Amino acid sequence: MKISKEEAAEFLRTHERFLLVGHIHPDGDDIGSIVALGNVLEAMGKTVDRVIADPVPERFQFLPSVKSIRTSIPDGASYDALVFTDLSNIERGGGFDFPKVPSLCIDHHVSNTEYTDYLYLRADYAATAEMLAELFLDGGFSLDQEARNALYMGIGTDSGFFKFSNTSAHTLLMASRLVEGGAEPAFITNHLDVTTRVSMEVYRRVLDTLHYACGGKIGLAAMDATSMEMDGENSDYYVSIPRRVEGVEIGVLFKADGPETTRLSIRSRAYANVSELAAHFGGGGHVRAAGCTIQLPMAEAEAAFLAEAEKYI
Ligand code: 5GP
Ligand code: MN
Repeated sequence: MKISKEEAAEFLRTHERFLLVGHIHPDGDDIGSIVALGNVLEAMGKTVDRVIADPVPERFQFLPSVKSIRTSIPDGASYDALVFTDLSNIERGGGFDFPKVPSLCIDHHVSNTEYTDYLYLRADYAATAEMLAELFLDGGFSLDQEARNALYMGIGTDSGFFKFSNTSAHTLLMASRLVEGGAEPAFITNHLDVTTRVSMEVYRRVLDTLHYACGGKIGLAAMDATSMEMDGENSDYYVSIPRRVEGVEIGVLFKADGPETTRLSIRSRAYANVSELAAHFGGGGHVRAAGCTIQLPMAEAEAAFLAEAEKYI
């Protein structure tokens, strides 16, 4: 059942023992959201466990509470509420046996499959962290410094630091209110902008794979098994390579995930609905940023992708 911001706030107020769940291959928005939500609930005297099936990428680990994020549900724990953040479908939750307690999903993916008892969805917001910032700031919740930084990070990373088309006046307003309350843009950017030497090497490898289709309207690049091993957790960074080329409407990054499986990160610039395109392959996401997994080796996955993607150009 879809619910409002006020009803979501009420759900948070009226439960006590929370299990918070983020998505596999977590990004800055998901991590920022789960950190901030946990801190806010703990400040209200509630107990919180945070679970994300995959490890948190190194570059987000400067937030101290990231240490509390587990990769599995602790044995014997009991909960009275389950909250999923930034998680569009239950398969992206990591395949856990979730407790049978009232569940809420707070998400901004247009492709959300409504898998929880309650869904607070804002597909017009750039980030789940933007939703939480509004919910907390308007709802009179107390936000500590780390929570403000975490939410700023979430809004920043999902909006390309206020450059993508999902950046609205409201996105900027939430960022502004977080900064007004103490969030530190330079501190966050300094942590996120540092690029390792390994990452630079992978950048070179990915650049080497860059090619085009559809008269240059589709840009393609790839991370093979070696690149994935070197820096697979930062694939977000590399999808910007095909995406930023002049004339490219759809940019796609193919990521080797075993010999028979390819994951895709898909981005569009002006008109192609890549959420729909990804859904054709069982994935989803947003209109301008989506992803999916194709059960084929990379070359065949590319052929299958192109046959469909051409229809969106
Ligand atoms: P990314 O390319 O950064 O992994 O993902 C871009 C967007 O698409 C994110 O919002 C992410 O949640 C969504 N996404 C990525 N992969 C999948 C997928 O396999 N299924 C669905 N439903 N969404 C995905
Ligand atoms: Mn998000």
